[in-house]
Amino acid sequence: MNKPPMLTAQQALDHLLSHAQPVGESEMVAMQASLGRVLAKDVSSLVDVPPLDNTSMDGYAVRTADTKNPGSILKIAQRIPAGSVGTLLEPGTVARIFTGAPIPLGADAVVMQEDCAIPEGSTDQVQVNTAPTLGQWIRRRGEDLSAGKTALVAGTFLRPQELGVAASAGLTHLNVKRRVKVAAFFTGDELSLPGEALKPGGIYNSNRDTLLACIRSLGCDATDLGIVPDRLDATKAALRKASKDHDLIITSGGVSVGEEDHIKPAVTAEGRLDLWQIAIKPGKPLAFGAVRKSDKPEDGEAWFIGLPGNPVSSFVTFLLFVRPFILKLQGREVSQPQSYLMRADFDWLKADRRNEFLRVKLNSKGGLDLFPNQSSGVLTSVSWGDGLVDCPPNQPIKAGDLVKYIPFDAFLK
Ligand code: AMP
Ligand code: MG
Repeated sequence: MNKPPMLTAQQALDHLLSHAQPVGESEMVAMQASLGRVLAKDVSSLVDVPPLDNTSMDGYAVRTADTKNPGSILKIAQRIPAGSVGTLLEPGTVARIFTGAPIPLGADAVVMQEDCAIPEGSTDQVQVNTAPTLGQWIRRRGEDLSAGKTALVAGTFLRPQELGVAASAGLTHLNVKRRVKVAAFFTGDELSLPGEALKPGGIYNSNRDTLLACIRSLGCDATDLGIVPDRLDATKAALRKASKDHDLIITSGGVSVGEEDHIKPAVTAEGRLDLWQIAIKPGKPLAFGAVRKSDKPEDGEAWFIGLPGNPVSSFVTFLLFVRPFILKLQGREVSQPQSYLMRADFDWLKADRRNEFLRVKLNSKGGLDLFPNQSSGVLTSVSWGDGLVDCPPNQPIKAGDLVKYIPFDAFLK
């Protein structure tokens, strides 16, 4: 049996990304429906935001020339609540003004009401107890967005805050990329679905829930094609079904080169495949290729990524390889997940020859604790953990060392 070539994580990633092309189609959707989608075109603001200079405080709009000396008493000539527009502020007068209301012409500062007092018995005067600086408490027209200028750029993954920005720019709908369609199936005769009886020697299919949720959390449509037995014909049939209406097929298990591993021959028969050993731990075997959508070449192919079966390995390889591949298909910028230099509060002296990803948790002392069992089968390690330490090959860690920490949150968005 030929041993698959050994690649570093970076080599594998570069290879994957050199193939992925963003999906072309886009659609207009209402603002709330655009959450978790990818913006297809730049969005320009329809208005200046804010549309006029306005006050960020409840208080009095003044001319600074009138309030040079703290304690000046001035006439309250007008009252401007938010949503109404005042008139020219005559010298020697002030305007009672409320947060969000436009600054009247002539005023050049706002004094907050806490810095003012109403003189005894007066109904139309105010004593200004500070000397405001020019422009104080004034939010300038267009300081957030300018009409006609780009408010959001194509390729932006739309979070709640981007929806707010688009709404503030006056938009009701956004042009978003169509969702990337991902089909997943899970190989293994030992697998049962939770809710079913376990087979003798069997286990529950946990990769299904982890991987489908990973796919959906990136904003893709996920199709579950279920458990596929360890047989060549069944694997080929599942691939043919999966390729039809999907951009990408993800599988777990069966990617080694043992007799019960049918991914390689099945994908090779239905398309093309590279099988790699990646010098990482967990998650050594990884398969990348494409499956024909039909017998007609013009119908194209669906991409294929086969992940290892061990639950931690399939999760970690999804984060490291499938996520960036999906980001590229979605037309998003593919950046490395944000990492942080953090202090290890543990020893990891038996460094591996491979680039290892250790499951760790932040502790209250500002350091990282290590999960005691780093086996690739122990899925509770990733649930206990807050993230991974990216540990270079052959580099032991001693307590107190700074290590490269990547929170799980940095991956699943
Ligand atoms: P494989 O990659 O098929 O050789 O599987 C490696 C290990 O992962 C075996 O112990 C399998 O039982 C386990 N495994 C494979 N698929 C799953 C799955 N969907 N859920 C949980 N464990 C799995
Ligand atoms: Mg298997």
